[in-house]
Amino acid sequence: MSTYRYHLGAYGRLVRYVGAIKTEVAIKVTISLGVNATYILQAVLMAQAVSLVFARSPLSALIPYILGALGAVAVRGVLSRIFEIYTKVMAAKVKTKIRFLVFDKILRLGPGYIHHQRSGRIQSMVLDGIESLEPFLVNYVPHIISIGITGIAIGLYLFHLDWLTGLVTIIAMLLCVGVPYLTVPLVSRSIVSYWRSYASLNAQYVDSIQGMNTLKAFNAGEKKGAELAADALDFYRKQIRNTTLSLIDSGLMMILMGIASCVTAALAAYRTDLGIITTGSVALFLFLGIECARPMADLNMYWHTSFLGLSVAEGLFEIIDMELSVTEKEKPDVQSLDQKLPDLRIRNLCFGYRTNVRKALDGVNLDIGAGETAAVVGPSGSGKSTLVNLLLRFYDPQEGEIRIGGVDIRDYGLEYLQSKIAVVFQETYLFSGTIGDNIRMARPDADDAAVVRAAQAANAHDFIMALPQGYRTVISERGATLSGGERQRIAIARAVLKDAPLLILDEATSSVDAQSEALIQGALEGIMRDRTTIVIAHRLSTIKNADKIFVLDEGRLVEEGTHEQLVFLKGVYANLINAQRKTYG
Ligand code: ATP
Repeated sequence: MSTYRYHLGAYGRLVRYVGAIKTEVAIKVTISLGVNATYILQAVLMAQAVSLVFARSPLSALIPYILGALGAVAVRGVLSRIFEIYTKVMAAKVKTKIRFLVFDKILRLGPGYIHHQRSGRIQSMVLDGIESLEPFLVNYVPHIISIGITGIAIGLYLFHLDWLTGLVTIIAMLLCVGVPYLTVPLVSRSIVSYWRSYASLNAQYVDSIQGMNTLKAFNAGEKKGAELAADALDFYRKQIRNTTLSLIDSGLMMILMGIASCVTAALAAYRTDLGIITTGSVALFLFLGIECARPMADLNMYWHTSFLGLSVAEGLFEIIDMELSVTEKEKPDVQSLDQKLPDLRIRNLCFGYRTNVRKALDGVNLDIGAGETAAVVGPSGSGKSTLVNLLLRFYDPQEGEIRIGGVDIRDYGLEYLQSKIAVVFQETYLFSGTIGDNIRMARPDADDAAVVRAAQAANAHDFIMALPQGYRTVISERGATLSGGERQRIAIARAVLKDAPLLILDEATSSVDAQSEALIQGALEGIMRDRTTIVIAHRLSTIKNADKIFVLDEGRLVEEGTHEQLVFLKGVYANLINAQRKTYG
């Protein structure tokens, strides 16, 4: 029962979304009323023609009615075309609006949200999920409005002809609209599990395709294939169950419509026999009765196709309602970092991911002067990347503060703060498009010359020019056709182009060969000049020249000093260095 109430609640909210497309709904309802008017006109003219036949009128008397009915059919043909085209336009508008709304919210929720979701699930929601709202928003809502208006008009007219037969017709119509709602509890459960099964199947496919290399390398393709087959079978079963339930509901409705037509016809005939209504009116009841039943079948179809949107709406509202864990002040600071090279001051920084018991950072204090290069090192899982996440405000700390240029980073505008930090991440994400576009995303207004200068500074220009179309070379998804070192140099070119005063290099040299490392190292040294830089690295070569080195271990700051001082300490840092010497020589 609770699912039932919840779904009706979701429908209520969806109806409110229709408010955002009032004009479109009004236009569609008007066209639909035009189409219905042609059906009614045709029915009335045909009823007149039939009563003339019963009255044994000459054939010539029928001609105007038949021509009129043909005219109604022709007008309907034109209106129906316009109706179809407008439906497509309206659907595209509505879906774009909702997609924008949801995507904007996902962007604002940021990596803190994405990290805890399966990308396939989000993808099904934003693409197929929003697609499934179309029948409800674009078809069902306008249709029920136009049926309401047409139904009331026909009902009142029939009521005027004969109150009893008119009343039966109106009751039958109301039942046809209402009956499908009775099956909501049954259908809702089935449709929710259908959608979950679909989203999970989709997520499995996305996982498998993204992890294709690993599956092949570990010979795990067969096992994964079996899992996918099991999921596909589950999805198939849910689909069949869903269709069966829909058919029961539609069947019920068809029976109801059949009974209603028979009762109306019989009642009209009986009332004619009693002399209460005329023979001509019987024909009107019959023809208009059909006109009442016709849109009901469409309504039932729209209702069923709408229902999937319900279970999806539930997930969409979950995203839309989700509270932002990182928020901006009402009047954020958007200027303090404009002129100066910032220093960085971190006090008692504590942060734990909500899924983990152990804190990722626990009482960390750091001071980095303006223009200094500081290295943060530590064993795997010690909290280095978490520190970057907090600096970029992907998350906010539970305790403590980070001050950049003397201001708490929570006081800055979010976009402003992020525009002042250039990051070269551990893994470079390249979007499908040209190499030039990928570099330019750091500063979309940059001209070609600036892009080339950035690539030169990143030691990327030569390899880009060696590609078939230079900067216009389209790279495949995620840059799979480029080497790790090439991808990183593109990331460095982005950072150069961004020209931000604070630079973060997150293990930028960890996955490349010695030659690439030398090229990357050269590029990095160039851009580190005149910037406050934090290098998060394992490699000795990257950190040896740092002004300060901070050593993290299990989320705590355990050592700090220069390379020489820390080696002398013979602590965690010295152990890391020794381990590295043994590995790399
Ligand atoms: P590495 O050198 O291996 O990249 P790191 O020092 O950068 O490690 P972090 O990635 O900051 O370490 O991780 C610190 C701790 O937080 C680890 O225990 C890790 O499992 C956990 N962690 C990291 N990211 C998340 C996340 N998105 N959700 C939950 N836990 C996380």
